[in-house]
Amino acid sequence: MAQTDSDRPTPLIGLSRPQLLDLLADLGVPERQRNMRVRQLWRWLYNRGVRSFDEMTDLGKDLRAALRQRHAVGRPDIATALKSTDGTAKWLFRLADGNEVESVHIPDQDRGALCMSSQIGCSLNCRFCHTGTQAMVRNLTPGEIVGQLLAARDALGEWPTPEGNRQISTIVMMGMGEPLLNFDNVAQALNLIMDMDGIAFSRRSITLSTAGVVPAMDRCGRELRVNLAVSLHAVRDEIRDELVPLNRRYPIADLLRACRDYPAASNARRITFEYVMLKDVNDSLADARELVRLIRGIPGKINLIPFNPWPGAPYECSSNNQIHRFAKLINDAGYSAPIRTPRGRDIMAACGQLKSASQRPPRRAAAAAS
Ligand code: SAH
Repeated sequence: MAQTDSDRPTPLIGLSRPQLLDLLADLGVPERQRNMRVRQLWRWLYNRGVRSFDEMTDLGKDLRAALRQRHAVGRPDIATALKSTDGTAKWLFRLADGNEVESVHIPDQDRGALCMSSQIGCSLNCRFCHTGTQAMVRNLTPGEIVGQLLAARDALGEWPTPEGNRQISTIVMMGMGEPLLNFDNVAQALNLIMDMDGIAFSRRSITLSTAGVVPAMDRCGRELRVNLAVSLHAVRDEIRDELVPLNRRYPIADLLRACRDYPAASNARRITFEYVMLKDVNDSLADARELVRLIRGIPGKINLIPFNPWPGAPYECSSNNQIHRFAKLINDAGYSAPIRTPRGRDIMAACGQLKSASQRPPRRAAAAAS
């Protein structure tokens, strides 16, 4: 019989400090001890990265036993690990309910980025994106979002949280899903990741990418103050409607207004506009000129992403020449427009290539389970 949610031990990873205090109260920990216990737990969970209660030696035997009985530390299992010839690693994680989700580690000399997912599947159906061909299954919980980082650091052996160089030095919320459609859980997860007594990432080392969920952008800038990336991809509504169907709800003018107003942007912290290069679709020099006109006055830079193919994709990547002409025009207008070198294409780990086998349960099964 399938496990139900109530049979499963509740994981600690992903809980905020107040939630941990409540949990200790439920376990009968006297009130005067709870703050100290939360501090100890926090250090084990997020600074030392231990995976079992037995390792938490200063907690006391009774509390460890009580935790073991009702709770788990909480980590996704690695179902598959792939390594690209360029060093990029992709992990397929299996979650407690059997669903699967991917993260990608993109290493550099003395640093690296972890690209994390926010949802299983995606509801946006961008036409050039492989994840878009997978139905939206569900939002990830805060624990499942942070869990991707913890499991990646387990795999890289990066505990305790290093003071100096890190193999994962930046986090990009650019994996599967639309983070601003799962704002509360993403916010709780990023707040844990930014907690200075734990994993301790600065807000400047985190970038959240959105396809343009305009009403959530202001909250993101005010409450999280992380760097923003915007998947622009087209400069005319007719074309963007087609590429990013969310544009029909929040057209280019509204999206750019939200970028102008983004509370956490400045000349020192520019918004990244992502622009996927699709042959004969959005890659003309007239498009480049319009792009520069549209973003004038916004502290921004443009990341040109050569289209990463996937089986059955309805587009082709622009030619190298065309991408360079496009970049030059933007550079000449005073904007930085780096051309992203695709990483991990051989293991389907590059931008827009992620997809897991998780399916939405058929309606009847979903109704029976609830
Ligand atoms: N939903 C968010 C997070 C995904 S980020 C967003 O849309 O921004 C993934 C980035 O890769 C987005 O900019 C997305 O548009 C881009 N992308 C998707 N498919 C791609 C492909 N096949 N080739 C290159 N980039 C792609």
